[in-house]
Amino acid sequence: MSRSNSTANRDIAHHLHPYTNAARHAETGPIVIERGEGIYVFDDQGNRYIEALAGLWSVAVGFGEQRLVDAATAQLGKLPFYHTFAHKSNLPAIELAEKLAEITPEGLNHAFFTNSGSEANDTIIKMVWYYNNALGRPEKKKFLARNGGYHGVTVASASLTGLVNNHRDFDLPAIPVRHLTCPHFYRYGNPGETEAQFLDRLMAELETVIAEEGAETIAAFIGEPIMSAGGVLPPPEGYWARVQEICRKHDILVVADEVITGFGRLGTPFGSDYFGIKPDLMALSKQITSSYQPLAAVMISDRVFEVIAKNSGKIGTFGHGYTASGHPVATAVGVENLKVIEERGLVENAAKMGAILQERLRKLADHPLVGEVRGIGLLAAVELVANKETREKFPEPGKVGGYFFARAHKHGLIVRNILDSLAFCPPLIINEAQIDEMLQAFEATLKDTAEWIAAGQPSA
Ligand code: PMP
Repeated sequence: MSRSNSTANRDIAHHLHPYTNAARHAETGPIVIERGEGIYVFDDQGNRYIEALAGLWSVAVGFGEQRLVDAATAQLGKLPFYHTFAHKSNLPAIELAEKLAEITPEGLNHAFFTNSGSEANDTIIKMVWYYNNALGRPEKKKFLARNGGYHGVTVASASLTGLVNNHRDFDLPAIPVRHLTCPHFYRYGNPGETEAQFLDRLMAELETVIAEEGAETIAAFIGEPIMSAGGVLPPPEGYWARVQEICRKHDILVVADEVITGFGRLGTPFGSDYFGIKPDLMALSKQITSSYQPLAAVMISDRVFEVIAKNSGKIGTFGHGYTASGHPVATAVGVENLKVIEERGLVENAAKMGAILQERLRKLADHPLVGEVRGIGLLAAVELVANKETREKFPEPGKVGGYFFARAHKHGLIVRNILDSLAFCPPLIINEAQIDEMLQAFEATLKDTAEWIAAGQPSA
């Protein structure tokens, strides 16, 4: 972290970081992560950290899984690159598409590959527009999304994202979208309202927005089964069944953004399995390769696929695709990664360890700083509040969370603070002893944070 570290100085001089306060970075510099092993990463000063967020919610099999290294190496030696445009294909892409069709929910039988989750959602937006044009209803183009939702950062996918900092000063949203109330009862339930009444209110809002805009103008509803980057926010009981019922009634496609929840995160193969969602389109990324290679996929239902395929026949092409769509090295790593997940029973492990994590975290609910403990499977968050009874937030949202985040490093822990909520999303390989270790570091940081607040939040 020190500026005398020449690696850090080089970083400061020439590297603009994503999701970073560039002015502050010039002062603090980076933590340079050098290597990884299991659930741990090590910085260039020799410090070890538990990666409680699996990198960026993504390293399912842990850091340093040799089988993925070998799969990548073998493919690099054989065919390091080839594209999938104009009827070309390669075996790893074929195998991965086949596997995804097999394991994703029924009806999703066609894969389109991109490099990132943002591009997957951008692709979905274009597919939905193409689909409705093909069906002769060019006015049916708008998206419904939710405040607090995260769908990426490209111009179109960031338009669907419902977070202020992804829009502010970027001139977004830039596509037709209506953002609905965030379905988080703890924060958005009205005083005296039950969770069931909150759900009724959300559904009334959905119906009202559809009526205001006209169902004939609304193409799709997109949502993460459980919002993640927005704060790990499980929806109220029964939410997805009601959303789907309303969408079907108005011929609005349902898009599941499973970039985080895909491949076992909630203890079920997909978040859609957990909530009973039957999506028309699904975005997948991150755990698809455990992020060892950049890769994402759009899974397409037979019904949508048939319309797209027919229209491409009429036009002469489906004029969309990335140089690296179906990249053989990325897809080879994906195939091997899914084998590791299957052979090691990591979805089952996520269910088992998830239950332990949720239970232990809920024991913190009595702590004076803890407002809410929430989550499903190996995805959880602890929200810190200024006043437990009134749920009042801290006067400067993110300051306490920011302190916690930085302080946790001293206890060998990397967690993510989303304002004043601390998020957990550890690798799916985590075991019980490691959950204990992770929570010990968390509790030690919580103690330090309480002392820091009691001392009047002195600057470091
Ligand atoms: N959708 C969801 C649900 C995500 O969590 C993310 C990334 N955190 C994205 C889309 C965007 O993925 P990427 O960063 O790979 O573009």
